[in-house]
Amino acid sequence: MKDAAGVDLSGLNAVQRAAVLHDEGPLLLLAGAGTGKTRVVTHRIARLVRSGVQPSSILALTFTNKAAREMRERVAALLGEHDPAGLTISTFHALGARFLREHGTALGRTRNFTIYDDDDQIGVLREALSYLGGALPAKGLKAWRRAIDTAKNAGQGAESATPPLEWAVVDPGLAGARYELLMERANAFDFGDLIVRPAQLLQEVPALADRYRARWRWVLVDEFQDTNAAQYDWLKALAPQDANLFVVGDDDQSIYGWRGAEVENILQFPHEYRGARVLRLEQNYRSDGHILAAANGVIAHNERRLGKALWSERADGLRLELFAAHDARGEARWVAERIRGFCREEGFAPGDVAVLMRANHLSLDLEEALAQTGTPYVVVRGRSFYDRAEVRDVMAYLRLLVNPNDDVAFRRAVNTPTRGVGRTSLERLGARAVALGCSLHVAAPAAIAAGDLRGRSRAGVESFMDMLDRAGRDDGRPASERVRALLTESGLVLEAADDDLGRESGEGREGNVWRLVDALETHEREAADPSLAAYLEQVRLVSDIDLADLSGGAVSLMTIHAAKGLEFPVVFVLGLEEGVFPNARALGDGEGIEEERRLCYVALTRARRRLVLTRARQRNTFGETRHNASSRFLSELPPEAVEPRYLPEPPPASRLRRSGAWPHAHDPVAVAPAPSTDELCTDPTYDDFGGADGGAYRPGMRVWHAQFGAGRVQRVASGTRPTLTIDFDEIGERKILASFVSPYEG
Ligand code: ATP
Ligand code: MG
Repeated sequence: MKDAAGVDLSGLNAVQRAAVLHDEGPLLLLAGAGTGKTRVVTHRIARLVRSGVQPSSILALTFTNKAAREMRERVAALLGEHDPAGLTISTFHALGARFLREHGTALGRTRNFTIYDDDDQIGVLREALSYLGGALPAKGLKAWRRAIDTAKNAGQGAESATPPLEWAVVDPGLAGARYELLMERANAFDFGDLIVRPAQLLQEVPALADRYRARWRWVLVDEFQDTNAAQYDWLKALAPQDANLFVVGDDDQSIYGWRGAEVENILQFPHEYRGARVLRLEQNYRSDGHILAAANGVIAHNERRLGKALWSERADGLRLELFAAHDARGEARWVAERIRGFCREEGFAPGDVAVLMRANHLSLDLEEALAQTGTPYVVVRGRSFYDRAEVRDVMAYLRLLVNPNDDVAFRRAVNTPTRGVGRTSLERLGARAVALGCSLHVAAPAAIAAGDLRGRSRAGVESFMDMLDRAGRDDGRPASERVRALLTESGLVLEAADDDLGRESGEGREGNVWRLVDALETHEREAADPSLAAYLEQVRLVSDIDLADLSGGAVSLMTIHAAKGLEFPVVFVLGLEEGVFPNARALGDGEGIEEERRLCYVALTRARRRLVLTRARQRNTFGETRHNASSRFLSELPPEAVEPRYLPEPPPASRLRRSGAWPHAHDPVAVAPAPSTDELCTDPTYDDFGGADGGAYRPGMRVWHAQFGAGRVQRVASGTRPTLTIDFDEIGERKILASFVSPYEG
């Protein structure tokens, strides 16, 4: 069935069709998982274009680059020969960066501004506090940085940040103002700025808002439930009351509360946009009946929700499988075997399978087990590559080529590798920059002239600046060629290749340096904007899921957050234990538990045909064995959706008392059939599993720990049980076995 504009609408039900054909004015499509929301968005875009709307007047916003790419492909497929060129399909952050490249001058930035990540922000904050006579340990800086983020997510500037009282060593308003000033001098924006600044500019400069409103007459937003206040402000500025704002979302899938997302946005939409049409979809097309019943059963336990009943015409299919392993290794081993079974006996391929988990580190054992069974797999955990010390070093150089005022990069690069510019020299240079009110790069010649820098440090700074200056000059060669030469000349390659640094081979680190140059070359060949600046931006804005190639026929291992919007024929969810999922931090916090439960709902609804949930009766956390109780989410599953051979198991009460397990000891689940976990545990190769190699880590890397959250490696101690000293964001320094953490991006 084609409509008058010639778009095939036969694959849509009546409500979906009504949404696609909706004429003008605001519309909210509020619907559960797998009901075809994203499908409606792509059909609507295609239909708008077919009916004569200029592609350049359409703006579609999503949350990951991967989702944006997929949306573009689907629209192109629907349009056939129609070229959707000019259409903007983007993430909020990428759009914000693009907007600020154009309008950043109003905020004292050039087109070449740098996007600062968490670490960079901390560097700036440290300088801001020091200027005001304050200093904080790493933990305090991190808490303060989070406060800045929170303020920005709420649509405000750093001046409005309210750090925890114990860390308010100087006036927060003054510190925030200084932070913003230093950001401006460094020609940098932080992630929060990418959203909040465009919103502010649009609100403050009506002519600008008019211009964009005239340009984007059609605005569509997928996953609307995850917008934060700043993103919503932005939408409101772009799309006033009666605009063609088309938002789709599911309040039950709001999983970014910790990043400021406000589920209220979706609940309030019909009040904010009075007269908005509200449509609901309740037919799920993705999952077999038992899977859907399981997801419905769990989410029904949340109190704060609009409530909707998803139904499906699909047959019930097979029931969920549950498995309780003796420990995490047994869990991994069993999952790897079960995946083999699905592939051998039920005709699934490894690429049909996703293993989802609450946190990245839960995949370590499974990676080993999959490797042992020869099953191809891909871990969606790509960003940690960019947190490696040698990669950060190279990035600092590249950033300076594009933006010499990037003080955070300057501080990192100027004495890497060492060229005699010690701490005192850097302090003097910093003081000169403060006195002159400029960046380090601008202050350096004055510092040299004034005699602040002498001897080796003077020579070091001079040669560094000269080298960057030459490499940055456009001599007709592509940037990658100049970068290649710069990395050799600077000594960075030699340093990376040095085997004496850390436990990892120098070869591996040098390889990483060249990987960056290769990636830059690819970018120069393939990207619409081949510039180095665009490369750096893209690197900054990629997320885990964007880096993974999920098309290669391999099992995908990823966090539930990364799996948002995706679907797989076979889904495993690991670690269904109190303290793991729900996460330890959410225990005892009603709102936190509700968000965990939404996350569980997202996980369950990724599955189309088969769904398997597993847990380990004991799991090593922080070098200590915990006997976690079965996750409350397992007890919330409707029994009729679960395969009956998984008999209820009494809680291991004696163990619970001894080990101080998490307090919620429902334990309705599950003794599994073969292979017996005890057998697995006597396998001699088995104990070596997951004895993760401390060599994967080096000082400076960010890591994640199930119980303590994110932290930074301070020291690495090798040996048969490699140990890391980690400075955790929340709780400070701890020694942890390397096998209990995983690389982390945040
Ligand atoms: P999520 O909440 O997970 O983002 P969603 O609501 O965006 O899900 P889609 O991903 O658009 O749902 O669709 C889910 C699945 O259902 C897809 O495989 C899609 O092709 C299929 N689907 C959607 N609508 C229909 C329909 N009317 N007929 C047949 N299949 C459909
Ligand atoms: Mg979707």
